[in-house]
Amino acid sequence: MAEENSANVTDKAGDWTRFLKKHYKAELSEIAREFPHKRSVVIDYRQLEKWGKKGLSLADEILKNPGKVIGDVRDAIKNNNLIFTKDEEEKADEVNIRFIGLPKKIAAREIRANHINTFISIEGIVRKVTEVRPRLTSAVFRCLTCGTMTPPYKQGYGKFQEPYRPCEQCERATKMELVPSLSKFLDVQKVRMQESPEGLRGGEQPETIDVDITDDLVAIAAPGDRIVINGILRSIQRVTHGNKSSLFDIYLEANSLEMSEKEFEEVAISEEDEEHIMELSRDSDLYYKFAHSIAPSIYGNDEVKEAISLILFGGIMKELPDGSHLRGDIHMLLVGDPGIAKSQMLRYVIRLSPRGIYTSGKSSTSAGLTATAVKDEFGDGRWTLEAGALVLADMGIAAVDEMDKMAKDDRSALHEAMEQQSISIAKAGITATLRSRCALLGAANPKMGRFDEFAPMSEQINMPPSLLSRFDLIFVMKDKPNNTLDRAIGEHILKAHEVGELIEHTKKEAIEGVDAEYIERALAPVTPDIDPALFRKYIAYSKRNCFPLLSKEAKEKLIDYYLSLRGFADDNKPVPVTARQLEALVRLSEASARVRLSKKIETEDAERVIRIVDRCLRDVAYD
Ligand code: ADP
Ligand code: MG
Repeated sequence: MAEENSANVTDKAGDWTRFLKKHYKAELSEIAREFPHKRSVVIDYRQLEKWGKKGLSLADEILKNPGKVIGDVRDAIKNNNLIFTKDEEEKADEVNIRFIGLPKKIAAREIRANHINTFISIEGIVRKVTEVRPRLTSAVFRCLTCGTMTPPYKQGYGKFQEPYRPCEQCERATKMELVPSLSKFLDVQKVRMQESPEGLRGGEQPETIDVDITDDLVAIAAPGDRIVINGILRSIQRVTHGNKSSLFDIYLEANSLEMSEKEFEEVAISEEDEEHIMELSRDSDLYYKFAHSIAPSIYGNDEVKEAISLILFGGIMKELPDGSHLRGDIHMLLVGDPGIAKSQMLRYVIRLSPRGIYTSGKSSTSAGLTATAVKDEFGDGRWTLEAGALVLADMGIAAVDEMDKMAKDDRSALHEAMEQQSISIAKAGITATLRSRCALLGAANPKMGRFDEFAPMSEQINMPPSLLSRFDLIFVMKDKPNNTLDRAIGEHILKAHEVGELIEHTKKEAIEGVDAEYIERALAPVTPDIDPALFRKYIAYSKRNCFPLLSKEAKEKLIDYYLSLRGFADDNKPVPVTARQLEALVRLSEASARVRLSKKIETEDAERVIRIVDRCLRDVAYD
């Protein structure tokens, strides 16, 4: 095998020369002109595959033996003076050979030992990035006794390689010092990639992989970005208490980055799905069905569920001529007594959103809700910028439980995150603007734990008015004992438990005497009308294709209602009535029209939305 390879070496370099000359002439001469500003050859794997049988074999070799291939390509460039002339050919050593467009992408959790030293393509979301710092790659030392310089010492990853032998000139074993001006440095950055949330099944923790990024690839990826990183999987031996372990850690040595700007594209919709979607869109009970497909095991709460179904569809983001934008995402807050299923509903919603993140204001990770810059071991003492929930949920829904208990820092950053849908960070060596284009569904308990019938509402919601006014909808949920309702909820809960037992049983053994029809009837009250998979596809389809416009009648209805609200406004209430409410009405109406895939926002949408908004505002803005 080895001999066969070595016999092929010249051949391979020849093939690469022919391929580069045929397809990359323009790119190579651009590098020649703009070096060192431009110093990477980016080869598209797909193009290589199309280049006949030889191309296929080169492509295949990249995956299996990337280190050697990169050497082959560089040899081809150097020996044939494809970029630089003969007297400058040393410069070819500083050219990066990069490959993009790999056929198969894998998730962090799929990485196995047999991937080590092969070329892989990993798709995910950037969770953390460190500052960019120089790393020594080649070191020249000076003898402190006689002043002689050593030849360059190549520096590997991690450990600093010092010259040990005595000075060649004076032959004395004296100290040597590093000469930075003659040594070579490379910009490096460490990045942590996390699996995309949409690839996870409910409740699974996403896995991560750390990536070593160098040279002209640094400072491209920001936390929250969805990217593909291609590179060589490397292993590094663990050392515990100074002893080498047989366990290895892995990291990806990045070779190239590709940005993926997909929104709901991850949700594949077949022709058959589209037929189902169209059929459902004509259903006369459509709104009821969507609302009742949200957390069917939770009894009642019809208006909350109806509102949640609207935020899943969302309004339309609008770019304004001055470059700013109006958000389309709808933010919603549930403030309520404990034990009325707020958390349950939040968890359920995440399963219906292609990009849902559930987090708690109380137990949030170090990154919190927005983003943080910290100095920790991940960055080996460098500053690290980490994305919080709202950044990771970019283009999806962030469900934030126990919002009243979130950290102060988060609270102030949240203002920008909710309205501008971005988060600006300026700390130490890091300045960045991260995107948080998500809908926020929050839950909070009243300030005293429970609502007090007699105290004013403004004193019972533990959040500043400036933050509250950024929510399009605020539901106050009170847990008042009510015999009829309590009985209904009680029976519903027992039903859910019964069904759960039934499912467990049927899994173990067929229960005698229990036929399929019986099971179906028993399941009915807690089975969603619309299957979650279809629900998700429907939303994705609507968001992709449906951009409804306000009809004249709907517009008038909304304006009239808004004016009446301004008239009712009560200063003692926690939420001021401002132009924000009008924007909220528009967003919600757009969502309402999207539910039935309508191009037009009709009177029925305006009426539906006014009913929901009014239910909310009655508690928080007027009496
Ligand atoms: P919260 O977050 O509001 O404090 P939880 O979501 O933790 O409340 O709910 C407490 C429990 O009560 C859950 O197990 C939930 O299923 C149940 N529960 C509360 N209200 C209802 C309801 N209307 N229908 C069914 N179950 C309910
Ligand atoms: Mg809760």
